Amino acid sequence: MNIEAIFAQKFGTEPQACVFVPGRVNLIGEHIDYNGGRVLPHALHRGVTLALSLRSDDVVRVASDRFEGVSEARTADEPTDSWAKYAHYTMRLAKDIGWISSGADIGIISNLSDGAGLSSSAALCVAVLKALREVTGRSESDVEIAQFARRVENDYIGMPCGIMDQMAVAVAKPGEALFLDTGSLDYDSIPLPEDVSFMVIHSGVHRELADGRYKQRADECLEAKSYFGTDDLCHLTLDQVEGAVDLAENVKRRVRHCITEHERTVQAASHLRARDFVRFGESMNASHVSMRDDFEMSVPAIDRLVESAVEAGALGARLTGGGFGGCIVAAVPVDASEVWLGKVLAQHPDAFLVE
Ligand code: ADP
Ligand code: MG
Repeated sequence: MNIEAIFAQKFGTEPQACVFVPGRVNLIGEHIDYNGGRVLPHALHRGVTLALSLRSDDVVRVASDRFEGVSEARTADEPTDSWAKYAHYTMRLAKDIGWISSGADIGIISNLSDGAGLSSSAALCVAVLKALREVTGRSESDVEIAQFARRVENDYIGMPCGIMDQMAVAVAKPGEALFLDTGSLDYDSIPLPEDVSFMVIHSGVHRELADGRYKQRADECLEAKSYFGTDDLCHLTLDQVEGAVDLAENVKRRVRHCITEHERTVQAASHLRARDFVRFGESMNASHVSMRDDFEMSVPAIDRLVESAVEAGALGARLTGGGFGGCIVAAVPVDASEVWLGKVLAQHPDAFLVE
């Protein structure tokens, strides 16, 4: 069934707007989008399709093909189903910023795993805002929509994420990587190669970023920011970190990751432009080690998957997304990708190909 038919079945009316927003995979540059760094995500073909109609009262109803039931609550109240909070709180933000004065019916169909590090939450928030922009005739840009969507996660959900996910899903085009400066929001597009695939494999380990572990890392970064007196941890030097004798060892490791990950990301963007995928793969491998040992955001199932991916012939592989489960991304020569995939999945029965 298409989105219009599902919407009509759930709510008995036609939607006023339908939008598709892709998920994203981050090729490199993890947890540095709230620490002053540059990142390199690209849009997936998979994503969230959302239909919306404004209502005459203040009620928000949300139905999703990935979750049971229809959540129904006034915008100022809590949604009846906690999975619906991203859509519900985006409506609340839209009301708070004066875009709307009523509620809406929202129908969602999605072929994007949620809680997998592929930004389903950002895709959903951006989709609600793009649909609202259409029905209200507003003229905010996609970048402004990304900024509002980040506010939903930061200020309404309590997830202290950076701007990468929202920018990637609101702005990036399929087939291109977005080399984004998260400080200035300047970006460049770099075409993806035809002879190397970025394969996204789900480990089978589901996690929710709002569960607190992401925030713990963000809090450790905050501690470092207050110690060094800067929001820009990526542009500190390793000597400064080594010299910070009274900074806790775990916090030093987080900063070390920010500095080295940012350097790797800038180099990786150059390798991608130069079509040097051996070096690009080396950057991915080093990034994984840094996420595992310095940022401590991996889990054993992901480490084993990354190891198998490289053993099976990937040029490089790494955890992607907020961490603690979800997906890996691997750079694999296209003509070897089928054999590679067979080898990796044979060793990891819970893993599956996303894209
Ligand atoms: P990620 O963004 O990496 O997928 P998050 O933990 O940030 O993971 O966000 C996942 C949450 O987003 C889900 O628990 C749910 O609340 C919401 N969400 C994602 N996809 C959908 C969907 N198709 N329908 C309803 N809610 C969704
Ligand atoms: Mg998310």
